[in-house]
Amino acid sequence: MKIALLSRNSKLYSTRRLIEAAQARGHEIHVIDALRCYMEITSNRPGIHYKGTILSGFDAVIPRIGASITFYGTAVLRQFEMMGTYTLNESVAISRSRDKLRSLQLLSRKGIGLPVTGFAHKPDDVEDLIKMVGGAPLVIKLLEGTQGIGVVMAETQKAAESVIEAFMGLKANILVQEFIKEADGADIRCLVIGDKVVAAMKRQAKEGEFRSNLHRGGTSSLIRISPEERSIAVRAARTLGLNVAGVDLLRSSHGPVIMEVNSSPGLQGIETSTEKDIAGMIIDFIEKDSVNKSTRTKGKG
Ligand code: ADP
Repeated sequence: MKIALLSRNSKLYSTRRLIEAAQARGHEIHVIDALRCYMEITSNRPGIHYKGTILSGFDAVIPRIGASITFYGTAVLRQFEMMGTYTLNESVAISRSRDKLRSLQLLSRKGIGLPVTGFAHKPDDVEDLIKMVGGAPLVIKLLEGTQGIGVVMAETQKAAESVIEAFMGLKANILVQEFIKEADGADIRCLVIGDKVVAAMKRQAKEGEFRSNLHRGGTSSLIRISPEERSIAVRAARTLGLNVAGVDLLRSSHGPVIMEVNSSPGLQGIETSTEKDIAGMIIDFIEKDSVNKSTRTKGKG
């Protein structure tokens, strides 16, 4: 196969591993920086230009689109889709997963376990908003935050009111969420490929911190997950339409709850913790799924 790997930096761990895994299986793989692509949107003749040449003959695309380039990155990916190229995760699924509120709404419709969550922009009655999600302690999040930035804990009613009012002053969209104390600063990252959790790791926040993000000093380790946790992770990925996803969940007293579904999960932490060849599994999945998909499409006529 000839594979396009949409990534901005070929030196990143995940990019390097996917290149290695594809080449080890005899595929040709090209790293393409989505921001450098320019597109022809003419009727019946969609095309992508890159560094003065036309991209053609690709059988599959692996999108690794950073949050900061979601708009342009998904547009380039959509252009590949217009040209009939198979993509590991579709552009519409990536856009969905990048919108925290939209993702939670879709997951809640499917009855998937979530922390009690409220969403607001400029509520007149902050007290009622806090009451709606069960009162303090609460976690308040900026809708557009990543890597734990913009995730704040309010231990008391008064603190919650002040944080919400401060965020309102910034004219930001905010999520107000039940604090899952029982998680004890740990979350579980499940790596889903197709309809399986192929690896899972626990991330533990450093002492005195409730956010387990590795960027915030969290540490990762191996963990065994329950059948219920496996099932919720796979359902979450499927609900958003992602073939490959990093599904983050917390162990709450009312069962596993989904925190976030990531469409470009990093491979370094999970491969190191589990010693599994996730990049290889992704390429194996593409080999099978791209064939299935082309038969499905042909079947549709
Ligand atoms: P980001 O997308 O910026 O990483 P998250 O919503 O995933 O933000 O939150 C970062 C971390 O904070 C989570 O991985 C989790 O460890 C912790 N956290 C977030 N929300 C809650 C919550 N409602 N209860 C307990 N811990 C939480």
